Amino acid sequence: MKISERYNIENLKNRSAETVFNKLETILEKTDDFCHCEECILDLIAYTLNHVTPFYGTSLLGPLHPRKDKVKKLEIEIDLAIKAGIKKITKHPHHEESKQTEAV
Ligand SMILES: [Zn+2]
Repeated sequence: MKISERYNIENLKNRSAETVFNKLETILEKTDDFCHCEECILDLIAYTLNHVTPFYGTSLLGPLHPRKDKVKKLEIEIDLAIKAGIKKITKHPHHEESKQTEAV
């Protein structure tokens, strides 16, 4: 039996990931010195998601209402992970030369 065929796993949501995407959008809009190519952005997303505690819930039960202190802790964790990821990928991008300089 395949779980993904029998059950609607689309209803499983990682709230941490949702918050990561929201925060990344805001941060990347304000950050010009980070390479915005697909490789670097995907690297940054992967890095951040790997360093943030997942927080799964099912949307079948309606929106989750985690405790406020838990949300706060998660947001700090995400901010730190994004900052560390930007530092790391800027220092060691997967591509050789900076694509950003090329585009200028
Ligand atoms: Zn890049």
